[in-house]
Amino acid sequence: MDLLRVSAARHFQLFTTSCRNMHLLKKQAYVNGEWVQASSNAVFPVLNPADDSVIAEVPDMDAADAKTAVDAASNTFKTWKNTTVKERSYILRKWNDICLQNVDHLAEIMTAESGKPLAESKGEIAYGTSFLEWFADTARHINGEIIPGPWPNKKILVTRHPLGVVSVITPWNFPFAMITRKVGALMAAGCTCVIKPSEDTPLTALAAVELAVQAGVPKGVINVVTSSRKNAAGVGKVMCEDPAVGCISFTGSTHVGKILYGMAAKGIKRVSLELGGNAPFIVFPSADMEHALDHAMLAKFRNNGQACVAGNRFLIHESVFDKFVEGFKGRIGQKCVLGPGNKEGVTCGPLVNKAQAEKVTGLVDDAVAKGAKVLLGGKIAKHLGDKFYESTLLVDVKPDMAIYQEEVFGPVAVCYKFKDEAEALEVANSTRSGLASYVFTKDLGQAFRMSEKLEFGMVGINDGILSSCEPPFGGIKESGIGREGSKHGVEEYTDLKYTLMSALDK
Ligand code: ADP
Repeated sequence: MDLLRVSAARHFQLFTTSCRNMHLLKKQAYVNGEWVQASSNAVFPVLNPADDSVIAEVPDMDAADAKTAVDAASNTFKTWKNTTVKERSYILRKWNDICLQNVDHLAEIMTAESGKPLAESKGEIAYGTSFLEWFADTARHINGEIIPGPWPNKKILVTRHPLGVVSVITPWNFPFAMITRKVGALMAAGCTCVIKPSEDTPLTALAAVELAVQAGVPKGVINVVTSSRKNAAGVGKVMCEDPAVGCISFTGSTHVGKILYGMAAKGIKRVSLELGGNAPFIVFPSADMEHALDHAMLAKFRNNGQACVAGNRFLIHESVFDKFVEGFKGRIGQKCVLGPGNKEGVTCGPLVNKAQAEKVTGLVDDAVAKGAKVLLGGKIAKHLGDKFYESTLLVDVKPDMAIYQEEVFGPVAVCYKFKDEAEALEVANSTRSGLASYVFTKDLGQAFRMSEKLEFGMVGINDGILSSCEPPFGGIKESGIGREGSKHGVEEYTDLKYTLMSALDK
């Protein structure tokens, strides 16, 4: 938490300008270069989870609106794909710069609708813009190949081509970064897009797109369709099944990911899916305990545990279990300050909505009823509101408890004891999820063995924070398909074309 706060503050000093652009609170969707209402004129409210106040009402669009947006993106693709990588790189860098000039106001909107503390919102904007900067650079390295063939007088050419319209469906937990990570990459590749942001956090998306407009992104390249949960399935169907769509890029639950994957399959569409995780956080006896504890705090309580890479199962060797649990309890008690995200000093905000609060409450209550012991927290802090879940530490958790298998997605740390490396691996891998994993050890051989044997797309050895724009982010098994960030993140949005150049002697 402290690391996050320091980096956000440093970032803030570097980039905040006096420009507080109140126009960033946009209340309309954005299609084909225009701010628009839903064709039905319907709207839905965006609530502040800290107090349930209505921040704004935005268009509640439906399938017909989604079709209009896909058509706009499809028309624009005809010209956008022919822009040079230099032009696309320039626009992305400008978008990055303008976002950095507006950190303050973007963060205010993000905190209001997502509940996350202001410092974390600023941290997310620093993280999210890093993808715009990164893809501004990677745009210029989408290279092909010339491969020596088996025949004389022929050459094999391999070139990369943009996939077309990308349907971007994003969650509420990182409402800015999940958009820049996808849209930065797809724009660099020469694609256009339709974004459907989460119904909980459309205002951050609209603000980000207003800044894209200011950066000179041409009309039709980015379109935003806002919809309530009620209309999400209808909008999603068009975004997955319209023939003009080349790819569906989704971050969210495994449940919804499977629905979208099924629809994409009908048209043999490309997919990029970042789904749920169930990250083990494994501490071996040789680990530097203070370091492991600092990183346990980061891995668990960043965004109040509402992250797919959040530490979900803390697997601690029996010889250091008591020490770890005592240290964890001390740190949680000292560092986690629950309250509204815009209040100075708060490190943990409300859960994003009632459903999340009920889910976390249900998981903890079930565990406690079956014998788990609560060392800290364990309930909603009712004096603050109905979505403020106390930072919680549980031990004595058994396989028959739902919390043993499920992704908590909240501020609940669950500690288990293990005897040896084989048992830690068995428990860690006993899930259909395979996104992030964390291992703390000073034994070099053990570090390599764990990296090799953990069935996860990402392994942090002695680190609880893995994400940045440089490495490929993504999961295996039911945690997803495809990678975001890195050079691979751009390639996701391209097709390879093989051209045989023959008769070169004629
Ligand atoms: P979360 O539980 O984090 O909200 P979801 O997977 O439920 O995760 O939602 C992630 C995104 O998927 C949101 O933008 C949501 O509106 C959208 N969504 C949910 N159901 C559908 C659907 N059937 N089709 C398209 N998008 C959907």
